[in-house]
Amino acid sequence: MKTCISCGMPLDEQHGLGTETADGQVCQYCLGEDGHPKSCEVIFEGGMQFFMTVEGVDKAMAEKITRKNMNSLPYWQMHGADCLKGEQASDEEFGAVLAKL
Ligand SMILES: [Zn+2]
Repeated sequence: MKTCISCGMPLDEQHGLGTETADGQVCQYCLGEDGHPKSCEVIFEGGMQFFMTVEGVDKAMAEKITRKNMNSLPYWQMHGADCLKGEQASDEEFGAVLAKL
């Protein structure tokens, strides 16, 4: 299954198929008007809001989970970003949250 290179969301009928960019497939939420993913800050904020909807995840944990998620994705590995520096969730914490999605 294809996933968004910027946020990791599945790209399928249910979530939308995304748009092909120079860097790879980008979902409708991450794609900016210039045809590239939006800024790290914007996507980070969106990720945090998303993970805060998961049961038992507070703001601090949502931040660490989002950072871990984005750091593992191709777009941010290629381009890096200051907003992704800082504390990350452990593999265990990340796995526990993903299991609840
Ligand atoms: Zn995305």
